[in-house]
Amino acid sequence: MKRIAAMILCTSLVVSLVGQKPEDTEDWSRKPEKVTPGEGTMPPSDALVLYGGPEDLGKWEGERGGPAPWDAGEELTIVPGTGGIKTKQGFGDVQLHVEWRVPADVEGTGQDRGNSGIYLMGLYEVQVLDSYENETYYNGMAGSIYKQYIPLVNASLPPGEWQTYEIFFTAPRFKENGTLESPGYMTVIHNGVLIQNHVTLLGPTDYYGPRPYKAHPQKLSLMLQDHDHPVSFRNIWIREL
Ligand code: MG
Repeated sequence: MKRIAAMILCTSLVVSLVGQKPEDTEDWSRKPEKVTPGEGTMPPSDALVLYGGPEDLGKWEGERGGPAPWDAGEELTIVPGTGGIKTKQGFGDVQLHVEWRVPADVEGTGQDRGNSGIYLMGLYEVQVLDSYENETYYNGMAGSIYKQYIPLVNASLPPGEWQTYEIFFTAPRFKENGTLESPGYMTVIHNGVLIQNHVTLLGPTDYYGPRPYKAHPQKLSLMLQDHDHPVSFRNIWIREL
């Protein structure tokens, strides 16, 4: 009884001190939309499926124009030398889920083994590479933001196994006069392990290192790289944020 009385006194004291009631700080302004989560790594109800099977190939086109030239079955496999593919639709801020697999037959070393890449807006690459037992410069290994950020850890699975990336991307913003208003940001989870934690993009990724930011539209195609290796993809889905 004493304790309850003390609690009531305490609460009313707090109320009178700050001059507001708990109800005053309840926010009812936006009711979150209902989303049905996917089972396991399958797309949630509000995701756009970019590749779930051959019927989705039409959502892509060749980097150099024309239909996407990759081998489209249950999984989507790079036909080396045909060039990258990009989505017909443009995207800005997104959550992106991608599953990828490098060939089980190990060939080549360093950058020449299971190399591909996921280019947000066609400009900002999260590296795809066989980094299981394959040394290369660390800001060019699997899960690196190419030539910008080394992954926090190496969460790679052996070649031939399916791996997942969960990518959270905030697009850069530009002022009307073309100068940078705010940089891009990226968070990456590799096989369930956080490997890039809200890193600040230094500009478009490039073999020679980050290029300076240059104003671009708020939405651009997602691009998958052909780096001459038959890397496969499946279960690609995206949510615009
Ligand atoms: Mg690459």
